[in-house]
Amino acid sequence: MTEAPNTTAAATVLSVVIPMYNEEEVLPALVSRLRPVLADLGVGYEVVAVDDGSTDRTAELLAAFRLGWPELRIIGLRRNSGHQAALTAGLDRAHGAYVVSIDADLQDPPEKITEMLALARAKDLDIVYGIRADRASDTGFKRWTAGLYYRLVRRLAGPSVPAQAGDFRLLSRAAVDALKALPDQQRVYRLLVPWLGFPSGEVRYERAPRPAGQSKYPLGRMIRLAVDSVTGFSAAPLRIATWLGGFAFLVCLALMIYTLSAHAFQHTVPGWTSLFIGVLFIGAVQLVCVGLLGEYVGRIYTAVQNRPTYFIGHDTAAGAAADAAKRPSRAGNPAVPSPAPPPGGSADAAAPVSQGLRQRS
Ligand code: UDP
Ligand code: MG
Repeated sequence: MTEAPNTTAAATVLSVVIPMYNEEEVLPALVSRLRPVLADLGVGYEVVAVDDGSTDRTAELLAAFRLGWPELRIIGLRRNSGHQAALTAGLDRAHGAYVVSIDADLQDPPEKITEMLALARAKDLDIVYGIRADRASDTGFKRWTAGLYYRLVRRLAGPSVPAQAGDFRLLSRAAVDALKALPDQQRVYRLLVPWLGFPSGEVRYERAPRPAGQSKYPLGRMIRLAVDSVTGFSAAPLRIATWLGGFAFLVCLALMIYTLSAHAFQHTVPGWTSLFIGVLFIGAVQLVCVGLLGEYVGRIYTAVQNRPTYFIGHDTAAGAAADAAKRPSRAGNPAVPSPAPPPGGSADAAAPVSQGLRQRS
């Protein structure tokens, strides 16, 4: 929070962190709904748009909106790092005394930010969850998988995880700093945040359909999030391996008795089917167990590598003067975030390095 010089940092009460990946279609609607809400709050705010390596016109549109909206701050990641990593980038660099994270796609209503902030201030809460009271707009499949996901994670990570709480939430500065101090790499914030144990409240809302654009969470990414959620919070699946092994042992014992008695009664020639099933069964059990172990070994590997989960390409708050000097030159092709900052933009140049160090803390 302190390494990026920003004159308005001290006055920022609220930061709104919005990870976005190829959201050109929804961006104008987002700006026109979010801006009046924040203006009406009557407090100093910044909007931290984290461009997660978009390949469409997201960066260009953001740069254009920023010209008329100085509170809009743009952090460009060098490549697509995923929703949770983009969120990490935003939380790590947000200046506000309160930080709200919200999706770019208007499925979470920005109007609820007012309610969240008021609740946090009135009751002195560190966390206010946005709870999806109604997911009628989601597809049946999405609702079913989401229901399954929340049941599973609540069982494994504990009932402090609110059901149907996604990544629309408010955090106090203390909660953000606690999150920043964690060493976790494959972060799943919807589990990490409740685990911190800060006093929390809830704001309920209706999840709206996506007004434009496509979901950036295809089935593969949803499965990845679920696997990260489970392996990040529980070693219980490793116990499944033990149970499977015990079960396989019992089956083998029964088959052994059968084989020996068949041998005693000279019925030993037919048996191809049972032999084959036995071999397949043991093979399957072993593969499942090795796969489960592999997930955990993978996590250890990533933790030992300790690489930053994202790289900052540029941050408009990193030196207002350098930014002003850069803006006209980038206007020609703002969709391409400058990988090498121009000479003079020393704050930008330092950003990836300090980021890497901070991830290691
Ligand atoms: N997102 C991102 N990086 C990614 C994928 C998604 O920053 O690699 C953002 C996306 O732009 C949106 C939010 O994460 O603001 C949630 O994604 P989406 O709405 O597609 O997920 P869904 O609501 O379908 O679960
Ligand atoms: Mg969405």
